[in-house]
Amino acid sequence: MPIQPLPDALINQIAAGEVIERPASVVKELLENALDAGATRVTVEVEHGGSELIRVSDDGGGIPAAELPLALARHATSKLSDAAQLAAVATLGFRGEALSSIASVSQLSITSREAGGEHAWTLRDGRARPAAGRHGTTVEVRGLFHNVPARRKFLRAERTEFGHIDTLVRRVALSRFETGFTLSHNGRAVFDLAPAVEQAARLARVRKLCGEEFVQHCVHVHYERPSLAVQGWVALPAYSRSQPDMQYFLVNGRAVRDKVLMHALRQAYADVLYHGRHPACVLYVDLDPAAVDVNVHPQKHEVRFRDSGLVHDGVRRAVQGALGDVRPASEAVEGEVPVPGAEPATLASVPAGGSWPAAGTAWQGSMRLPVREQVQRYAEVLAPAAASAVMPAPDPDSEDHPLGTALAQLHGVYILAQNRAGMILVDMHAAHERITYERLKRDYETRGIVAQPLLVPLALAVSEREADLVDQHGEVFASLGLHLLRKGPASIEVRQVPALLEGSDVEQLTRDLLADLGTHGRSNRLRECLNEVLSGMACHGAVRANRRLGLAEMNALLRDMERTESSGQCNHGRPTWYQFSLADLDKLFLRGR
Ligand code: ADP
Ligand code: MG
Repeated sequence: MPIQPLPDALINQIAAGEVIERPASVVKELLENALDAGATRVTVEVEHGGSELIRVSDDGGGIPAAELPLALARHATSKLSDAAQLAAVATLGFRGEALSSIASVSQLSITSREAGGEHAWTLRDGRARPAAGRHGTTVEVRGLFHNVPARRKFLRAERTEFGHIDTLVRRVALSRFETGFTLSHNGRAVFDLAPAVEQAARLARVRKLCGEEFVQHCVHVHYERPSLAVQGWVALPAYSRSQPDMQYFLVNGRAVRDKVLMHALRQAYADVLYHGRHPACVLYVDLDPAAVDVNVHPQKHEVRFRDSGLVHDGVRRAVQGALGDVRPASEAVEGEVPVPGAEPATLASVPAGGSWPAAGTAWQGSMRLPVREQVQRYAEVLAPAAASAVMPAPDPDSEDHPLGTALAQLHGVYILAQNRAGMILVDMHAAHERITYERLKRDYETRGIVAQPLLVPLALAVSEREADLVDQHGEVFASLGLHLLRKGPASIEVRQVPALLEGSDVEQLTRDLLADLGTHGRSNRLRECLNEVLSGMACHGAVRANRRLGLAEMNALLRDMERTESSGQCNHGRPTWYQFSLADLDKLFLRGR
């Protein structure tokens, strides 16, 4: 066959392949157009997983009748006019190819009425006709991929395709609180989200989209620097997931999946989340549009940061700060259910692992123990422990002691304490473990890192790029006790390892380190490994259950906890204490005050 130009229709279909992968991609592009048009309400109607019909209606600015045919032309956009603007795009769309791509693989019609327009116009099959319709735009897409059998064949079951659409709309709904979103499938409403302006309404939307459990276990993130702001919610380690499937990152209002952000999040949880569990978050990262390249991928799922180190650092610090801030309430507001994230001021009253009123069911649960067991528990509590439970007069004004004064030890496991707000229960082992860990870490840092020479240096073949990294970062490794040496263009040698990591898989660690450095420009892996060893030591060194503690020892432990960073969680991410306010106790006994 001689070389010949492709017909235009085929060129369009090939381009469509990059942008329109499945029904959810159509929904994404149409939603972005609606938001760019300033919509305050968007309705998404889907039939048969989107393969039969996708209809997106908005109340945005609309398209002037004369421009309707242009909206469907390839590379025609109202959002960019020169290259300089591409460097700092503020709209979600800018490539001017979505509608033309969709139109080339489906039957598409647009009905639009601009503000001040006498009536709407519909564009279908290349012809514009007057139509009825309110202000705004409706785009209807039928028979997706009807003319691309190869694509249509690859569509999954209706339920799977709709699942992708559902996830997508949720993601977008988290990016625009001011806009209301409605989603329906085969005529049935899936969700209807009103515009959310107040912080409480926003949290309500997060509750609808991420679930009650997430909201019960989240803390508010608020971090602002001149070049970067990070806000939103992160879940305490007590709520973790087996997959990184609830990590919403919104960069300048655009929902993205980004390795730098995910990695920064993982590092922020390095000390408190183990066993391959994944944190959950809804995080808004805002920075100068000129510092983000959004033109990386045809589907605009990805971005590239000009200074990824700055963004990585900011996100890690923001999240770590929020997790470390979870401290006991010094004065919980009586009778008020703490709303995580309602505003920073109320955060102090959110106990680790959630608020007590929600956990109240757990208490009720234990009230329903069979009678025999109840009696047995009573006996246990009254017999041996009662002797040590001599109630001292607690200092009534122990305001500077948020965890209060120890009263007794329960079952050799818990410390019962009284503070101004009510009663506190502390998991002795978990708390001590946390304190020991932080202390070990501090010691380790002040004493310096002891390096242990390897009897036989370990030779490793790596890529040339990785060997370069060893040249560049050798000193940083050395300061952490890891001596790496370049031996050739693509070979390195490990000479010394941190004494604490002796016996661990040095080769794997070194390879992972270099991979991190190559991808993210930095790595905390060595630090994480050291911390993990320290954490193991802390766990074994911490007080075990059934060790009798005197009141003075218990009080010392409480004071230590107040001083220790992140003392709200043990190293394994379990909560270390719970606050029961007087109001909670009153409720339990149905006592009105
Ligand atoms: P892009 O969004 O990259 O500009 P599209 O192909 O998605 O490209 O849309 C082309 C143009 O059509 C947009 O630039 C915009 O002017 C117009 N348009 C599309 N959808 C809407 C809408 N819902 N409301 C108003 N204008 C729209
Ligand atoms: Mg667009």
